[in-house]
Amino acid sequence: MQNNRLRIAMQKSGRLSKETEALLKRCGLKLNFRDNRLISPVENLPIDILRVRDDDIPGLVMDGVVDLGFIGENVLEEERLEREAMEQPTEFTTLRRMDFGGCRLSLAVPEEFDYNGPQDLQQSRIATSYPNLLRRYLSERGVEFSSCMLKGSVEVAPRAGLADSICDLVSTGATLEANGLKEVEVIFKSKATLIQGPRPLSDEQQALVNKLLVRTNGVIQAKESKYIMLHAPKAQLQQIIDLLPGAENPTILPLAEDDARVALHAVSSETLFWDTMEELKLLGASSILVLPIEKMLG
Ligand code: ATP
Ligand code: MG
Repeated sequence: MQNNRLRIAMQKSGRLSKETEALLKRCGLKLNFRDNRLISPVENLPIDILRVRDDDIPGLVMDGVVDLGFIGENVLEEERLEREAMEQPTEFTTLRRMDFGGCRLSLAVPEEFDYNGPQDLQQSRIATSYPNLLRRYLSERGVEFSSCMLKGSVEVAPRAGLADSICDLVSTGATLEANGLKEVEVIFKSKATLIQGPRPLSDEQQALVNKLLVRTNGVIQAKESKYIMLHAPKAQLQQIIDLLPGAENPTILPLAEDDARVALHAVSSETLFWDTMEELKLLGASSILVLPIEKMLG
């Protein structure tokens, strides 16, 4: 399999796969995932995409089987701790944190549990798919426990009598509630991230990684930014500019047959909320438009 094509691993199907695919497409990669193949060549760049279970991605990167991988920090850190304990290679570098895949790994106990702190879990049994992250958190707090390793259905373990509490991923808390559990500690906050393995790259491959990173930054920055256009009375111009979040050096253009007002265009680092738009209007701004930006460079 050794060739000069860059290999990138991503989750085949699950909570990270759609957004990873969307990001790669926005970076200009022509993807073709029609069939069920493990490896899909990118049509317009020397890149192969490996689509696998997310659990396999940290190992593939750290063993140098693939060059880059998109992975949840929770899975990455759990695997790193596991490999550290087994004295397996753990080398990788983080290229960029993504703006998706956000979740938290939390401890949850049955609703009727009178929880006052981690000490209450002393000598108890905790069900989790993340024994290493859990052990690190609780041992830092002097709590000894036994873990019940479950890869799925963790949230039913207390009711089924398999464990006293659980440590699992949470995004809204609805699953916990449905199982009569309450979240009591957040032990790890996670997002998806892009990592690179230890395998040395050729100059062309390194240039490709750099290009991909610049484009990724541009895509993420663009998603967070807005293009704002409005008409402003000259007298209130500075006050209006001060209200625009992160807008430096806006463009000011004259308006046809109106000497008292100008058009203002600016790229803002955040979106404009209704209350800011209403304040702008009170200052005399009109025709306020907030537009999405598709790509940004430099
Ligand atoms: P695979 O079949 O690839 O092993 P999986 O079932 O292990 O998939 P998913 O449920 O698709 O994994 O979650 C993948 C990652 O998405 C998680 O490890 C986490 O980083 C992130 N994630 C974001 N929100 C959530 C959530 N609410 N619950 C679980 N994971 C979440
Ligand atoms: Mg998985």
